[in-house]
Amino acid sequence: MKTWLDVTVLQCPNCGRLYAEVSWYVVEMESDIQCGECGKEFNSKRNIVDRALLEFQIDENGKIQNVNLLKHLQPRNNAVRY
Ligand SMILES: [Zn+2]
Repeated sequence: MKTWLDVTVLQCPNCGRLYAEVSWYVVEMESDIQCGECGKEFNSKRNIVDRALLEFQIDENGKIQNVNLLKHLQPRNNAVRY
């Protein structure tokens, strides 16, 4: 079985640390987050560096077996198409 997760990669504009978040949190909510490294608050949507769809292979017990990068997505497009 398969399932999918739309993820966004963010970068702190102050120190450059990277974060991975679920895309709805970034693209739809446009949330501010606080950097765990330097403490600066920044807007998640304005600091997107990549967005992609991950595909999870799930076994018959519901356990994740493997994760693939299925495709890159438009970073700021609210309409999730997959
Ligand atoms: Zn930072």
